[in-house]
Amino acid sequence: MSLVDRDSAVVIVGAGLAGWRLAEALRHEGFEGRVTIVGDEVHEPYDRPPLSKQVLVGKWDLARTTLVRDDSTVANSVEWRLGRRAVALDVAGKIVTLDDGSRLDATHVAIATGARARRLTLSARDDVHTIRSRDDLAKLLTNLERADATRPWVIIGAGFLGAEVATALRTRDVTTVVLEVANAPLAGVVGPQAAQWLRRLPDDFGVNLRTNQQVRDVRGASGALVVELENGENIDAAGVVACVGSELELGWLRDSGLRIDGGVVVDANLQAANDVAALGDVARFVWPGPTGEELIRVEHWEVANFHAAQLARFWTQGVGPERVLVPYFWSDQYGKKIQMLGHPRPDDEVTLVHGDLASMKWLALYTRHDVVTGLLAVSAPRALMVSKVLLDEVTSRDDAFARAPWNA
Ligand SMILES: Cc1cc2nc3c(=O)[nH]c(=O)nc-3n(C[C@H](O)[C@H](O)[C@H](O)COP(=O)(O)OP(=O)(O)OC[C@H]3O[C@@H](n4cnc5c(N)ncnc54)[C@H](O)[C@@H]3O)c2cc1C
Repeated sequence: MSLVDRDSAVVIVGAGLAGWRLAEALRHEGFEGRVTIVGDEVHEPYDRPPLSKQVLVGKWDLARTTLVRDDSTVANSVEWRLGRRAVALDVAGKIVTLDDGSRLDATHVAIATGARARRLTLSARDDVHTIRSRDDLAKLLTNLERADATRPWVIIGAGFLGAEVATALRTRDVTTVVLEVANAPLAGVVGPQAAQWLRRLPDDFGVNLRTNQQVRDVRGASGALVVELENGENIDAAGVVACVGSELELGWLRDSGLRIDGGVVVDANLQAANDVAALGDVARFVWPGPTGEELIRVEHWEVANFHAAQLARFWTQGVGPERVLVPYFWSDQYGKKIQMLGHPRPDDEVTLVHGDLASMKWLALYTRHDVVTGLLAVSAPRALMVSKVLLDEVTSRDDAFARAPWNA
């Protein structure tokens, strides 16, 4: 049974990927009521993954990241409140208050406010770049063009984003130094064993990755910065980019009464309260994982898309998703395509099942309690995709090896 009708008014807070895809999906499902999209950025919804890839390399201009086509009938059928920030949500009354004091009455509210880049407390805080938005990229590209080519750029953090930024700068012939506090990058995501397998990628690509490096401070001003390390060493840098994770946009929900615990906690249908839902990066949702139900939050492009389709279906038809979500993400780094399926934990057992480390084309299988929990591929997209069947339903480790779909 539908939970909306033509008199319903949906207010979507957050004009990013999840918010925009929800508007599209609602119209696709035939919803004829009002849809309002509130976004604190002045831009129409755009795609973030290309920012640290095609745009930073210089292959795409920023305008190409837009998600809204010129002839989009959906865009014309929604009310836009761009450049406006939501500051409060009255859950019972379904009222969203904006930063200009205006109030939007809704019957349904979707929270899709995502995350912002985490910033470090540094003397030159405002001259240290972060990468989350189009405006961040515009500023970074301008400074890159002005920069003294004899000085390196320093990237703080060698996670997925840091690796992509290092790759893009190296591709532009910029000397890069990546500083990572841990002794192996990505270990917290792919586990220590797979992190070790990935360890030589930066070297092979000509990027100087230094592990066990704690940054004490960054001083100076744009163009002439000094990065101070805890070990007393100073690095002169033309620019510094901090890729040290994200912080959720939850402040505006402080007094909402919603359950906030590492994200907006929602049920298996993404509902945080009656007719109030959360989706995308900001949602901590009930997921029927291969080893049992889990409450997870995932900052992946594919998950935001999945959530949008799922929520539109739930509100318009009252039914759950058509298939079980298998989280997926990719990253283009050091000349390789890294892809992960599933939601393995870093301490899951990992086995190389296809390809070899020498050629850096391989597929690894993750298991927990003898159940398949994930797949990690390095430049082996076909082996990954044909093996996805192992995650579409619960598969034992023995069964996975007996079927060995990666050999097909
Ligand atoms: C540089 C970069 C590269 C990435 N690369 C990959 C990749 O290769 N693979 C992958 O799987 N994922 C990648 N991601 C992650 C992916 O882009 C995110 O998972 C996705 O953008 C999540 O969409 P969202 O709509 O939930 O959040 P967002 O895209 O963050 O959108 C939320 C929007 O809400 C706005 N907002 C916040 N608070 C308020 C408020 N109070 N009022 C109004 N508006 C507000 C924000 O400004 C923002 O515009 C990347 C992310 C970044 C930043």
